[in-house]
This record gives sequence, structure tokens and C-alpha cells, in this order.
Amino acid sequence: TNRTFTMIKPDAVRNGHIGGILSMITDAGYKIVSLKLTQLTVTDAQAFYAVHSERPFYGELVEFMSGGPIVAAILEKENAVEDFRKLIGATNPADAAEGTIRKKYATSMGENAVHGSDSDENAAIEGAFHFAGREQF
Ligand code: ATP
Repeated sequence: TNRTFTMIKPDAVRNGHIGGILSMITDAGYKIVSLKLTQLTVTDAQAFYAVHSERPFYGELVEFMSGGPIVAAILEKENAVEDFRKLIGATNPADAAEGTIRKKYATSMGENAVHGSDSDENAAIEGAFHFAGREQF
């Protein structure tokens, strides 16, 4: 068993898909160990996506991710990180497989409904950024 970190991005929150996305997550066997509605500051979003700071879409990405409420969650399941990347689907919804969260809820490459950590190490860092130890059940 291990853990991953996810965000339901501002587009999906704005479009009313919190419930639908959480259902897909729990139906796939994940236990929710931490959960909150929150909003990233510009500084938070810049730091979170620092790896993309030289990319042409960085400014747009930071503006989008800090532009409205998100849902942050820590999820637990065997092989959590890798399986969750499969459940969310390709970054570009046009390439996302049938049955994935992005296939159902993403609208574009930039506004793609969900984030999933790409490694166990990043899952721990991202989870700790949003949740105190006493909030990680
Ligand atoms: P995430 O890190 O959000 O789970 P990912 O790992 O599938 O997504 P990355 O390549 O890490 O994708 O890109 C991070 C985010 O940056 C994407 O989810 C998307 O919102 C945005 N992004 C990536 N490529 C583009 C692009 N070409 N144009 C606009 N936005 C992009």
C-alpha cells in the first residue's frame, strides 16, 4: 500500500465535477486519507510547477492553477502513484484513453481537470505541502 497526491483543478471545480471525479477515484479502489477545498496563491502555483518555468505555457499554467478553488487530496492504494497516472489518462485529453478521468472531464491540454503525482517522492512532498500530519488519516 502507498499514497499519491491529487488536485482537482480549477476548471473541474468550476464546472461542477468534484463529486464525479471523487466517485471515479473511490470506485477505482482508492481510500481518501486527506481532503480539502482550497486555493493556490500565485507563489504556490509557481513553486508547484517550477519544473516547467522555462516552458512557453508556464505563465498561463500558473494563472490557471491559482485562478480558482481546487480540491487537494491524499489517496491510498497499492501501487498508488503509477495506477493513478493511468486512471487520470494522458495530459492532452485528445489522447486520453476511454474510462480515464481526463477523457471524461478535461477540456484542453492546459485545463485538464486533475493532477497526479509522478513519483512516490513527489507525492510525499506535495501531500505535506497541503496537509498537516494530523490531517493525514
Ligand atoms: P500534472 O502534473 O498536472 O499531473 P502531467 O504530468 O500530465 O500533469 P506535465 O507535463 O507535468 O503533465 O504538465 C503539467 C501541466 O502543465 C499539465 O497538466 C497541463 O495543465 C500543463 N501543460 C502541459 N503541457 C502544456 C501545453 N503544451 N500547453 C498548455 N498547458 C500545458
